[in-house]
Amino acid sequence: MLESILDLFFPRECPVCGNPSDRPGRHVCSDCLNRFSTVPPDAGIAAALWFDGTARRLIHEFKFRSQLHLCEDLVDFLEGAALVHYDVAKVDLVVPIPSVWFRRWLRGYNQSALLAKSLARRLKLPFDQSILRRKGLPRRQASLDSAGRAKNIRGTFRVPARKSAAVKGKTILLVDDIRTTGATLLEARKTLLAAGAKSVLALALAKTGE
Ligand SMILES: [Zn+2]
Repeated sequence: MLESILDLFFPRECPVCGNPSDRPGRHVCSDCLNRFSTVPPDAGIAAALWFDGTARRLIHEFKFRSQLHLCEDLVDFLEGAALVHYDVAKVDLVVPIPSVWFRRWLRGYNQSALLAKSLARRLKLPFDQSILRRKGLPRRQASLDSAGRAKNIRGTFRVPARKSAAVKGKTILLVDDIRTTGATLLEARKTLLAAGAKSVLALALAKTGE
């Protein structure tokens, strides 16, 4: 009710086409929403969007310019991909890829955790962002090729001992924002499986086209 009154006075402009959004509580309008193309899964990782054009702009606004009001719009895509690619009824727990602490400190939040938390709430699943921890400081992945990325990320995650009971025998939906080679998600999946997870379903908001 309050939302619709607010909409009357402060129409939410679609960040893609600039028209007022017709979706309650969202920014991207339904016309634009339907124009995004789907991404086939590969290397056992599902992704919601191609990281190019409009999707790239939206995710940049969210991730680097703290436009956090776009979170629910982005989770619409994430939720759609989760439902298409995975049997979410079998999932026990939603876990985000942890960010590097100083980047989290600089931005004030972990964007993958925000997306994963909202996704978990919608799917009515438990969410835990302290299942995976990072060890030390990795070099930035951006400057490395595919083999370099896999090597750079190896051994980078751990599951704290106090969390091992929460992982053992569980099916985990693992969420990241942008995947490039998939090295980060695959390494995190390996870490969770080594800690006793029964199965790990990897899901990214967007995939780069390389
Ligand atoms: Zn639009």
